[in-house]
Amino acid sequence: MTDVKKIKDLLSTCLQCGTCTASCPNSSAMDITPRKLWRMVLMDRIDEVFNSTTFSLCSTCYFCTLRCPRGLELTQAMSMLKEVAVKEDIPKYRISSKFYSSFMESVRRHGRVRETEFLTLYFMNMKNPLLPMKFAPIGIKFLKKNKVKVELPSKPGPGNLGRLFETVSRLEENK
Ligand code: SF4
Ligand code: SF4
Repeated sequence: MTDVKKIKDLLSTCLQCGTCTASCPNSSAMDITPRKLWRMVLMDRIDEVFNSTTFSLCSTCYFCTLRCPRGLELTQAMSMLKEVAVKEDIPKYRISSKFYSSFMESVRRHGRVRETEFLTLYFMNMKNPLLPMKFAPIGIKFLKKNKVKVELPSKPGPGNLGRLFETVSRLEENK
C-alpha cells in the first residue's frame, strides 16, 4: 500500500525546473502548482500537501510525466497522493473519493452507471441530509427532459462485474 515515503522516493531527483507546472492543463485551477507540491512533499510538509486541492484536480493526462526532464513518474505520484487521501479519509478529498466510489459501486453492480442509484449512494456515503437539496434543481431539469431514468438502488451483492473488481483490487494490493 502507498505511503508518503514511496512518493518521496519517486520524486527524489526533482530539480525544480517547473516543466511539470508549465505542461499541466489544470495548473491554473490548482491552489499550489505541481512543482511547488513536489517540493512540499520532499520537505515533509504533508499537512499542507493534503490541505491543497492540487492533487485532486489532476486529470491523469500524463503531460507532466512525458515532459519531466528527470523522467519522474509524476502522474503516478498524483495517483499515490489520492490513494493516501482515500485511505486516511482526508476531509478535502472526501467529496471526490465518495463521488468516485459511489459511481464505481453502481458500475460494479450493473456493468454501467445508473444515475439515480449512483446519486443515492453518494448522498448516503456523504451523510449530509442537505446535500440532495443542492442537486434537486438539476435533477428536476434532467427528469423533465427524460435525460435520466428513476431506478431504485439494487441490493448490494457480487454484481455483474464483481469478479473483475475483485481481481483488480487483488492486483492493486500486491503492487
Ligand atoms: S518537471 Fe520534473 S524535474 Fe522539473 S519541477 Fe517538475 S518534477 Fe521536478
Ligand atoms: S497528469 Fe495531472 S498533474 Fe500532470 S499535467 Fe496532467 S493534470 Fe497536470
